[in-house]
Amino acid sequence: MGRYLMVGAGLSGAVIGRHLAESGHAVTVVDARDHIGGNCHTERDRDTGVMVHVYGPHIFHTDDAEVWDYVNGHATFLPYKNRVKTTARGEVFSLPVNLHTINQFFRTTMRPDEARAFITTQQADTSITAPRTFEEQALRFVGRELYEAFFKGYTMKQWGCHPSELPAAILKRLPLRFNYDDNYFFHRFQGMPEQGYTAMIANILDHPRITVRLKTVFDAAEAGAWEHVFWSGPLDGWFGYDLGRLGYRTLDFERFTHAGDYQGCAVMNYGATDIPYTRITEHKHFAPWEDHEGSVCYREFSRAAAPGDIPYYPIRQVAEKALLQAYVTRAEATRGVTFVGRLGTYRYLDMDVTIREALDSARGFLACLARGAAPPAFFQPPL
Ligand SMILES: Cc1cc2nc3c(=O)[nH]c(=O)nc-3n(C[C@H](O)[C@H](O)[C@H](O)COP(=O)(O)OP(=O)(O)OC[C@H]3O[C@@H](n4cnc5c(N)ncnc54)[C@H](O)[C@@H]3O)c2cc1C
Repeated sequence: MGRYLMVGAGLSGAVIGRHLAESGHAVTVVDARDHIGGNCHTERDRDTGVMVHVYGPHIFHTDDAEVWDYVNGHATFLPYKNRVKTTARGEVFSLPVNLHTINQFFRTTMRPDEARAFITTQQADTSITAPRTFEEQALRFVGRELYEAFFKGYTMKQWGCHPSELPAAILKRLPLRFNYDDNYFFHRFQGMPEQGYTAMIANILDHPRITVRLKTVFDAAEAGAWEHVFWSGPLDGWFGYDLGRLGYRTLDFERFTHAGDYQGCAVMNYGATDIPYTRITEHKHFAPWEDHEGSVCYREFSRAAAPGDIPYYPIRQVAEKALLQAYVTRAEATRGVTFVGRLGTYRYLDMDVTIREALDSARGFLACLARGAAPPAFFQPPL
């Protein structure tokens, strides 16, 4: 039986810890915060009783049947489809941009084929043959009018730079639907845990061989006390940021309450740059099976993370990639630690991918133990 430490009580630490505990090992999970759940943490709002997604809205969606079975084994999931709206030029439109959005925007009644022909022949800028930037990609595929109404301002606020400075890869596919499907995600399995994500993660951590310690900041210098450490904190944080900091965007949430229903949907985006926030989340709409008179909403502001801020979205621009490579090289030369999760591998990971990777990491680790091999620094390389 080994003694293993998980740094971070988010999905990564919980899922890996549970797998190792079920395999007979003693697991300790520490988190600097005063709650488990990492960035998926949910809690009841003090005034309204609404279940709040404390670090931003989280909708579970996946095509991975094993992961779907896994989460359903630890929580009751209720059906939930994410239907996002956006306020632009004084009107409310449906997202992602679909036939309803297009017909409303251009004051038309086009059918799918007509809309597709209209966008590709009259809107898209076909003079751009090899788009290099986000802006060129958007102009090439959706044209200037839709780009400026629905993509440009939101992207500028979200990433803090002009879309001409972002790589085309961010906007990979044609971001338009030529039908009235306004379900934000394509995945087969979608839902919301009835009691919130923290209750689900508490269930994952509920095992006699798992000990959880909150309000406990772990420092890499203490690693020698453990047979192996799984680190779901920031990759550069393990090394004391001594080569510099990997860039992140952070979010500020401005909470306000409202009697009744504030906006009629869970997420309303605001693309205009004269409105400083990117979106407003009204949390009670994530749990339509509950009944609350009062409502709590978060205005969400995005900015560059400074030391001490919560890192949310990895930037992964050219400058970060060089620094990332330097940290990856050092991590690979370090023994006794495996870097996991969204911060440990400096990638944006949806929850289902986080769980998939955590299960694969735990299995990979046990396979290393079985053959007497040293566990690698990464089961999922950041680059
Ligand atoms: C705004 C936003 C919205 C999102 N929405 C969705 C969504 O709708 N659907 C979806 O599938 N996914 C969504 N995600 C992704 C989801 O949040 C991640 O998949 C998930 O949180 C990753 O879990 P993790 O355990 O790897 O990391 P985290 O949840 O970040 O957990 C890491 C934990 O490590 C702790 N820690 C770090 N360093 C130390 C240290 N030195 N000592 C002790 N503890 C430490 C931190 O306190 C933290 O609790 C969203 C992410 C963001 C940022």
